[in-house]
Amino acid sequence: MPEREPLHAKSIRRLLVWAVGLSIPTWIILLVMAAFDRLGWLDAGLAACAIFLFMLYVSFVRLGDFERLTRYAETLFENPDAPSPPAYSSAMAQRMMTALNSLRRVWAERREEAASLAKSRQDILDSLPDPLLLLDRQRRVVGANLASLDLLGRDLGGMGTGRDLLGRDLAGVIRDPKVLDAAAEALSQNKRTDAQFSLSAPMERTFRTLLVPVSSPGSRDGTALILAFQEQTELLKMDRMRADFVANASHELRTPLASVLGFIETLRGPARDDAPAREKFLEIMLKQANRMTRLIDDLLSLSRIEIREHTRPTSAVDVMLILKSTAELLEPQARERNSTIRIEGATDLPMVIGEPQELSQVFHNLTTNALKYGGEHGPVEITAQKVATRPPAMLGQGPCVKISIRDHGEGIPKEHLPRLTERFYRVDTARSRELGGTGLGLAIVKHITNRHRGVLTIESELGKGSTFSVYLPIAGA
Ligand code: ADP
Repeated sequence: MPEREPLHAKSIRRLLVWAVGLSIPTWIILLVMAAFDRLGWLDAGLAACAIFLFMLYVSFVRLGDFERLTRYAETLFENPDAPSPPAYSSAMAQRMMTALNSLRRVWAERREEAASLAKSRQDILDSLPDPLLLLDRQRRVVGANLASLDLLGRDLGGMGTGRDLLGRDLAGVIRDPKVLDAAAEALSQNKRTDAQFSLSAPMERTFRTLLVPVSSPGSRDGTALILAFQEQTELLKMDRMRADFVANASHELRTPLASVLGFIETLRGPARDDAPAREKFLEIMLKQANRMTRLIDDLLSLSRIEIREHTRPTSAVDVMLILKSTAELLEPQARERNSTIRIEGATDLPMVIGEPQELSQVFHNLTTNALKYGGEHGPVEITAQKVATRPPAMLGQGPCVKISIRDHGEGIPKEHLPRLTERFYRVDTARSRELGGTGLGLAIVKHITNRHRGVLTIESELGKGSTFSVYLPIAGA
């Protein structure tokens, strides 16, 4: 038979009280009997002792088991994994013990279920790409996903790896009053609200925050409000770019148009009978009209390419053929600037995946630029070769074809390089206009290269010249 658990001093005291309490009625009877000479005092004393010993036995052996059971049930509150005491002598206590153990097993299962539910809830939250916070009624963070730790954990000086947002007040996490007001409104009026806020470090980012109150706050962590963040940075940037683009395009068209209108007025008025002036003005008007045509052509090219940007070309093309025909086409322009176009291509150059017309436009724009901005200083050199490694920005692995167009012009200051492919971005606007530029050539190049899943790189050294390189995937690779 297994050893029984020893009783605590408190339990012993309680059991002694029980033994005395249970003996008292019999003691009273014995006392009355002895008082009325129905029993001798000695017999009464012996009987009282015997009764007390019996009650002691009943208390310690039977009630002791229940005392132990009670203590065990109490310890289960503090430690649900506390070991169950050994078997009991009383069958009833044993039955209660079995019932208690079954209850304990059910609790343990429920606990595990709740823990795995909490874990899977956290996994679901962590798998969301957008940041999400859970707040209690006091605006304290009671839950956060990995994206929000990345975004806001770092802002707190943490690395965003631990659950370092938990327990913090919202005001300490997002310092924007708009979000705090929206949270207060959502909690007090129990309605969805939203607010926009920006983070300035490490870079300017704008988010829309959706604040959704929870109808029945969770009793486990007290979630009362869900904050879901949607990044708006790109969207706002695109909106700004679109607005800028329309403004720029209108401005670019308005200038030559205003000039043409001005000359028409002059020709109808003061210069009506001035033949030499008429010739001169018509010449300028032709130039301006050509400028508008070029601009409209480039705008149309750009929008056509943008529409197709997401569908990749499929045919295999010979880059050397396109380069040679482009060079031929630009020969007169090169001669005009006392320059030449030299092409050097590897004999075993593989075919690339591409759209011949679009690639022709890429090489045309880059060679024209090389002639415009560097033609007077030396030849324009075009090289085409197979390279073993792709530039970091290019998707995929393995070799690709690199086409470089190099000039010996004055080069481009470093700070302009990252923005050169933006629409209408020019280093020197007046010079670009004077040379017949629209400011859209490189933007077209960039979009076509993107569509070809290629990459454009620009290297430039002041006083020495620039090299524009286009990397294209090899056909059949
Ligand atoms: P543009 O019609 O003005 O030439 P692009 O988009 O083709 O427009 O080029 C944008 C700007 O990049 C040009 O205005 C010029 O300042 C600069 N740029 C382009 N190619 C060269 C080059 N080969 N050498 C120096 N600057 C260049």
